[in-house]
Amino acid sequence: MQAYDLHTHSTASDGTLTPTHLMQRAAQAGITAIALTDHDTLAGLTEAQQAAHQLHLTLIPGVEISATWRERTLHIVGLHIATDNTTLQQGLAGLCALRIQRAQCIGHLLAEAGLPGDWYAKARAFSNGNLIGRAHFARALVAGGHANSVREVFKKFLVKGKPGYVAGGWTPLTEVVTWINAAGGQAVIAHPARYGLKRRLLRRLIADFVAAGGVGIEIVAGSHSQDDIYNMTQHAREFGLLASVGSDYHGPNITQCQLGQLTPLPAGCTPIWRDWPNL
Ligand code: AMP
Ligand code: MN
Ligand code: MN
Ligand code: MN
Repeated sequence: MQAYDLHTHSTASDGTLTPTHLMQRAAQAGITAIALTDHDTLAGLTEAQQAAHQLHLTLIPGVEISATWRERTLHIVGLHIATDNTTLQQGLAGLCALRIQRAQCIGHLLAEAGLPGDWYAKARAFSNGNLIGRAHFARALVAGGHANSVREVFKKFLVKGKPGYVAGGWTPLTEVVTWINAAGGQAVIAHPARYGLKRRLLRRLIADFVAAGGVGIEIVAGSHSQDDIYNMTQHAREFGLLASVGSDYHGPNITQCQLGQLTPLPAGCTPIWRDWPNL
C-alpha cells in the first residue's frame, strides 16, 4: 500500500470528482498525502486545501502542465508550488487561453467532419465552464452516441491523424520547468512511459529536463507496467532524479487505477518526499 498519491485530477480540469469529493475518497482509501495536479490550472487547490484540512489529510499543492518538447506534447507535474507566484499564474493563464482557442478549433473540425451539433458548447457544458480539454469532448461525444467509450472517441476523433485533432502549441518544456522553479516547486516528468519514446530519446528528454532544472520523475504511475517501473528506476538513478508516485486518478469510473492502489517505490529510489517537512 502506497500512502502517497502525487498525481490526481478534479473537476477543476478533466477529473469527475470535485476537489472536496476527491479528498474524501482519498482519505477513505487510506491515503495520507495527496497532490491535486489539475491540468494547467490551480483553480481547485483552495477547495482541496479546506477539505484536506478537515480530513487531516496532507494536501500538496500541485499542477500538471502541458509542455512541448521536440514537437511532442509532454506533461510536467509541479509539486509543492507556491500558488501565489505570478510567473506560474501568468504562464498557466496563457495555457488556459490557448485551450479555449484549441477547443473552438476542435468544435469546427468535428462539424466539418460531419458530426452535427455545436461540440464546443457541448464540451464546455461537460467542463462546467472550468478548464476545457479533450476529455470533455470525449464525454460529450459518448453522450451524443458517437462512440461507446471515451477511449473509443480518442481513437476515432481526437488523436493525431484523426478529424478532431489539433496540434499542441504548448509552452517549451524548459520554460515550464522555469515556471515551476520560480514558484518554489519541484518539477517532475509525468508518466514517462506513456509517450512512446524509445530508450535513446527518453534519455535525451531526461537530460534536457535535468539541464532545465527538473528534479523528479514518476516511477510508479497508474499507467506503468512492472517493466516500466524497473526501467524508470534505472534512469532515475543514473540521472540523479527523485522518484515520484501518482495514479493520475480522474474519477471512480475513469481510470483503471483507483486511489490507494499504487505499488510502493522499488528499493534504490530516492522518494521525492525525502526532504519534505511534516510528512
Ligand atoms: P488534453 O490535455 O486536453 O489534450 O487532454 C489530455 C487528457 O485526455 C489526459 O489527461 C487524459 O485525461 C485524457 N486522455 C488522453 N488520451 C486518452 C485516451 N486514449 N483515452 C482516454 N482518455 C485519454
Ligand atoms: Mn486528464
Ligand atoms: Mn498527463
Ligand atoms: Mn494527469
